[in-house]
Amino acid sequence: MSYPICFVSLGPGDPELITLKGLKKLRQADIIYCPATISKSGQLLSRAARIIEELGIGESAIRLFTLPMSKDRTEAWKVYDALYEEAASAWDEGKKVVIVAEGDAGFYSSIQYIYDKFRENRIEVERTAGIPAFIAAGALAGLHIVKQEEQIIVIPGTLTAEELSEKIKAGYVIVIMKLSQCVEAVHTCIRLHPEANFHYFENVGTGKEFYTSDRKQIQGKIFPYFSLMIIQ
Ligand code: SAH
Repeated sequence: MSYPICFVSLGPGDPELITLKGLKKLRQADIIYCPATISKSGQLLSRAARIIEELGIGESAIRLFTLPMSKDRTEAWKVYDALYEEAASAWDEGKKVVIVAEGDAGFYSSIQYIYDKFRENRIEVERTAGIPAFIAAGALAGLHIVKQEEQIIVIPGTLTAEELSEKIKAGYVIVIMKLSQCVEAVHTCIRLHPEANFHYFENVGTGKEFYTSDRKQIQGKIFPYFSLMIIQ
């Protein structure tokens, strides 16, 4: 009997924020494919692998795949295609295969590309839901993220100061993911909109977790990859 290939959502970084269902899948897995990046100094980094190790899952099941961070995604698709082939043949041999992603695996998560490819090729897949980083961020700061009639929009950091300003004026609660891509837009809007509250978060759920809503402090920050903002 073959088991569906399972995409497990790991949550934002705190190992305790995985679901019981996800944890069970990890414990049963023969192989767990984990995304990693190579730092500028050439070090292999994997937040996902660290979460899994902290959950007490044996390192022997973990296989890292390295994702290039460049904006040009051509190289990333090649990595995914190779991962697809490897995972499909392990599955064919009857192995229990898990592929993990941080936060929720279906929320700004390019790994969905492989999920779709398995489906197209009639290989059974399933996915466990996970806590996205912005929900964990709201809990950290004690925010009522949206209330009553409010509307929320979630956007990646690929927008201009004018576009962001329009959305603030329209009264939306705004979540900005991939914040490192829109430093200038955020700085400008902090100056333009004294009426709005800017909540800045980085590395939520890890030892390096940081939160502030202090405008000056936000203006002085270099936004790392794992940072996001909630504007209310
Ligand atoms: N699937 C993830 C999102 C991946 S996109 C989720 O469900 O949350 C990557 C972006 O997510 C990062 O650029 C950052 O904006 C945000 N992010 C992910 N984990 C984070 C964390 N622990 N703290 C702050 N931001 C995080």
